Amino acid sequence: MEDASVWAKRDADVVWHGFTQMSSFTESSPIMVESATGHELIDVDGKHYLDAISSLWVNTLGHRVPELDQAIREQLDRGAHSTMLGNSNRIVTECAEALAAVVPVDDPHFLFASDGASAVEQALKIAFQYWTNQGISGHTKFLAFGGAYHGDTIGALSVGDGGFGTNIFDPLRFPVLRAPQLSDPACFDTAIAMIEEHHDSLAAVIIEPLVQGAAGMQMAGAEEFARLGVAARAHDVLLICDEVATGFGRTGTLFASQQCALTPDLLVLGKGLTAGYIAQSVTVASGRVFDAFLGPDLSEKTLYHGHSYSGNALACAVAKRHLELIESKNVLANVKARSEQLRGALENKIAPLPQVAEFRLCGLMGGVELASPDPSERWGRRVCAAAVARGVLLRPLGDVVVIMPPLTITDTEIERIVTTLAAAIDDANL
Ligand SMILES: *Cc1c(COP(=O)(O)O)cnc(C)c1O
Repeated sequence: MEDASVWAKRDADVVWHGFTQMSSFTESSPIMVESATGHELIDVDGKHYLDAISSLWVNTLGHRVPELDQAIREQLDRGAHSTMLGNSNRIVTECAEALAAVVPVDDPHFLFASDGASAVEQALKIAFQYWTNQGISGHTKFLAFGGAYHGDTIGALSVGDGGFGTNIFDPLRFPVLRAPQLSDPACFDTAIAMIEEHHDSLAAVIIEPLVQGAAGMQMAGAEEFARLGVAARAHDVLLICDEVATGFGRTGTLFASQQCALTPDLLVLGKGLTAGYIAQSVTVASGRVFDAFLGPDLSEKTLYHGHSYSGNALACAVAKRHLELIESKNVLANVKARSEQLRGALENKIAPLPQVAEFRLCGLMGGVELASPDPSERWGRRVCAAAVARGVLLRPLGDVVVIMPPLTITDTEIERIVTTLAAAIDDANL
């Protein structure tokens, strides 16, 4: 037996994997990573895999980036973590200052958390309390889009639109005003009409600007999101932009909100924040929102919320260095050039295939939708398994094959991803 299958068995005896049916875990040839370097993962048998999903969208500049490793080592010598509840840590202040200079939020204030979902929860609670703190009652609802995904905790699930087997939790979800899916050409008109009708009862509108990632890379035009932002502002409804997936250069600008001319009241960041190194997220509140929480000590205006590992020093050290590297390595220019190259390659080699319905791409967030006759045929799984066998790690969302390479991906690697995908579609015997 190869080491990988031995390790998979040991793993399955003790580890429970997210979004994974554990009874078939070992049969689906999971990659057992031993180490990672650059854009590759290396398994316990020494096999190399190109990480074409950026370790589930978190990785930005590759693995073992010398400058990022160094930033963590230096911080480690100063201490790994100290609490942010009522106290602070120099590196956290510096990280927030660096972020403040680049986020599309007016007079930004940063409440750190650990995962995207927990930062979404913070945004929802802040939006809710924003109104009660001002003695304005009735603003208790949220408007969200069809197909939305905001994370797996109960509040984040509530603003999310189900699917992924989460319907079982429907009784726990709080009710939400639901605009149509982005695939409906009238969805923004409908959403704006809903804001006009319900603004008195809305705490906030929550959106994923430009791209709904987990919905299978569903996209809409920047001007549509801009219109929505204008309507929210005009009717005094808070705007929450969930940029957990789109943040830090994914769509070709540092934040997708910038392309949509949006200045959200609350901005949620996660995934790429620490370049894929350490679990950390942050809820960014505008000065207007932040000020609504100021009052006497111990008063009800305080935000009684905070996570134990909020503002982790190692995570902040790597996040701060990451921002500097995005600039000095000219990462956004690479995203734009590689995105154009990827678009051309998908048009030439993938779109004409009879097994492919269409592809969608924004920056380096891509999805190839297979023309599957029935989800039970599991085309997405079969194509990705064939790609993995050929040394390129891909993972589907249903019948959409996600292409989400690191932002520093090279032109030869883009070629390799597309050539491998074409071969994998062939291998899968669809
Ligand atoms: C991944 C994701 C989340 C949840 O982040 P976690 O770190 O997995 O909790 C929330 N919103 C969006 C848009 C995401 O892509």
